[in-house]
Amino acid sequence: MSQRMQQGQPMIIMGDDAQRVKDKDAQEYNISAARGVAESVRSTLGPKGMDKMLVDSTGDVTITNDGVTILQTMDIDNPTAEMIVEVAETQEDEAGDGTTSAVAIAGELLKTAEDLLEQDIHPTAVIKGFNLASEYAREQVDEVATEVDPDDTEALKSVAETSMTGKGAELDKDVLADLVVRAIQGVTVEADDGSHVVDLANLNIETRTGRAAGQSRLLSGAVIDKDSVHEDMPTDFEAADVLLLNDPIEVEEADVDTAVNVESPDQLQRFLDQEEEQLREKVDKIVESGADVVFCQKGIDDLAQHYLAKEGVLAVRRTKKSDLTFLKNVLGAPIVSDLDSLTADDLAVGSVTRDTEEELFYVEGEDAHGVTLLLYGTTEHVVDELERGIQDAIDVVSTTVSDGRTLPGGGAVEVELARRLRDHADSVSGREQLAVEAFADSLELIPRVLAENAGLDAIDLLVDLRAAHEAGDTEAGLNVFSGEVENTTEAGVVETAHAKEQAIASAAEAANLVLKIDDIISAGDLSTGGDDDGGAPAGGMGGMGGMGGAM
Ligand code: ADP
Ligand code: MG
Repeated sequence: MSQRMQQGQPMIIMGDDAQRVKDKDAQEYNISAARGVAESVRSTLGPKGMDKMLVDSTGDVTITNDGVTILQTMDIDNPTAEMIVEVAETQEDEAGDGTTSAVAIAGELLKTAEDLLEQDIHPTAVIKGFNLASEYAREQVDEVATEVDPDDTEALKSVAETSMTGKGAELDKDVLADLVVRAIQGVTVEADDGSHVVDLANLNIETRTGRAAGQSRLLSGAVIDKDSVHEDMPTDFEAADVLLLNDPIEVEEADVDTAVNVESPDQLQRFLDQEEEQLREKVDKIVESGADVVFCQKGIDDLAQHYLAKEGVLAVRRTKKSDLTFLKNVLGAPIVSDLDSLTADDLAVGSVTRDTEEELFYVEGEDAHGVTLLLYGTTEHVVDELERGIQDAIDVVSTTVSDGRTLPGGGAVEVELARRLRDHADSVSGREQLAVEAFADSLELIPRVLAENAGLDAIDLLVDLRAAHEAGDTEAGLNVFSGEVENTTEAGVVETAHAKEQAIASAAEAANLVLKIDDIISAGDLSTGGDDDGGAPAGGMGGMGGMGGAM
């Protein structure tokens, strides 16, 4: 297909297989692709949401309720649908929670936009209205929010529990929320200006299978899931000089070019002696520095292990890089990358304890920097989903500590923002007013879906919720367990203000991005997927081919 030059228009020359879709058709195509993705995660929203089982191309199975995990595993190759996936990713990066909500709202915005376009309202008016509404709603978040003190353990536990409800972590949420809050408080420092800074680099999660989640523990310091290299080594130190090493304690490889020609037994012996000598020197270097314990990221030669054991040094080889980095924070010691340069100054004092039952080392620094959350789950799948839930809880609690605000959950904040938007819409002129009202309706998708997923009557409940908010109860939300409307802040169903602001902003941006497109020029066939077509560029206008396995 090619197009002749028209007056003032650039000429577009396209290949034989190429397709072009314009104006209304382009909008319809994009909106339906984006909505398809958004709607696929809706059924997971809220405490009563369902899980999805995702099977990737290699047959690996993930069972999850986590919006961003679902969308990423779906391996979508439609560019418009990918914009929706990006909403989830941005939300996950910026707030760590609210991914399903953000994506669901984006889809609903596009649905209401479609209605407006059908009424011949120009996309520019819709986009402008959505922008206005997004900004106003975010301003109002601050008005609705409750201030939370970083020492308010109960309030922070509510935030953690709300984010865990409906996830794998739910069964033991009481224990786990408490662990998460104490973990965050353990790595929070007050800055000079009085603000609270949460240093997540000082918080490590270690997962283990074989025990119930309720037995998870919080430990100060690091946990190293390794054995010592030699059974004669000591394993417990109250105050050890610890060396973190990223250099092998092995014989240095001879240059590739220099072949070793051994012509006599004598020569062989000399050669072996040399190797022994080299290992002895490396071990002496460590002993001279005063180190009692060595965590080495690389290998340790058998002979060196023997020497170290004889010197009473505890050595652990092939320590994970992430563990070594965490030990660096916990102990405040540098990671030494060259044994030749080692001095006593490179060591740091810490306690090392062996848990023989669990086969772990506990390492604590003198100033006790850093904490480890030791998470248990009965099986690998359980512990994986648990970790995702805990990670979300860590993110929301740390956001709440640094941001200092929470919002009433269970759809309360959405209904309140919708009410305020409708009031505000009166002051907006022309067609944008309709878009602002459509935005308000879209926010109310959250209580509607929460109710639907709980098998409750969404329409009746929304009527009740609106009435409560009209009557001035700004925190009236849905209790999905009782089916009643109640004050959700008092009920302990609370979310972070930051996550909600982010969700509103990214949903509006993604919807607007899709609405702005009025012309799709594709190098490949739009319906069958560009990848089938030899000439198609990567990321061409594919169908949703990759979604099959995920649904
Ligand atoms: P997201 O990925 O958007 O965080 P979730 O599946 O975590 O999705 O669901 C979050 C929604 O569930 C929020 O609107 C939150 O207020 C709501 N919610 C959480 N716990 C409850 C509860 N006990 N009762 C009612 N709603 C709840
Ligand atoms: Mg959540």
